[in-house]
Amino acid sequence: MDVLPSYSDRWQSTLHWQPSDRQQQNFQLLYDAILTANQQVNLTRITTPEDFWEKHLWDSLQGVAPWLSEGSSASALKVVDVGTGGGFPGLPVALVFPHWAIALLDATRKKLAALETVCEGLGIANVSFLPQRAEQVAHQPTHREAYNLALLRAVGPVNTCAEYALPLLTLGGQAILYRGQWSAEEEAGLTAILPRLGGKMVEVRSQTTPITQGVRHNVILTKTERTPDKFPRLPGIPSKTPLV
Ligand code: SAH
Repeated sequence: MDVLPSYSDRWQSTLHWQPSDRQQQNFQLLYDAILTANQQVNLTRITTPEDFWEKHLWDSLQGVAPWLSEGSSASALKVVDVGTGGGFPGLPVALVFPHWAIALLDATRKKLAALETVCEGLGIANVSFLPQRAEQVAHQPTHREAYNLALLRAVGPVNTCAEYALPLLTLGGQAILYRGQWSAEEEAGLTAILPRLGGKMVEVRSQTTPITQGVRHNVILTKTERTPDKFPRLPGIPSKTPLV
């Protein structure tokens, strides 16, 4: 197996944080396990050590940068990673915040089954698995308005992401939408629909990836009012016809 770079200086200069030796070992174990699982199930196309470091580890964790400096003194959060795919951003977050409970949600059963094997092998105990569509999970009483934090990366149009995420959040909970480019049009379109979902935009944080200088934006939402029961709409509708 290939050795992951540690890039301590890059963690430090960008996120003002560095993984401990133990966390670095866990990142390596995660990398090895994901690549092994990837031979059976298509989890990710990002496989070289440098790419995995930047696009999976660094990128997953930059979204939760405000909590990194608090380390284990950060309050315990219930987190849901909607459309986790190969486990991103959820798994790196689970490794760095062992006192957070992370639900990995994805409609593709095969991917979640592979992630379950990965987590068992690594002894990652603070994750749970929701092999269903977000539109279904969000109407189940145990999951509706149950999460302090929702993470969504590469799960489609921003208004679709908002419709998946806001019903799952507690009042005062936050959603972090991991985006690449971000435009004034997208922002206007999102701002227009958020009140219907009980949400509000808090801020947009921009980042540059430390190796290839890629553009990243994190769009932070918060839930200010209860989401009406009709959201999210039936499976498939939020992505086919995003709210306008
Ligand atoms: N977040 C990961 C994967 C992105 S690919 C990453 O950034 O690497 C998008 C994933 O979202 C796919 O695995 C797909 O199965 C899942 N997905 C898309 N729409 C979904 C929905 N409505 N409910 C649950 N999972 C969904």
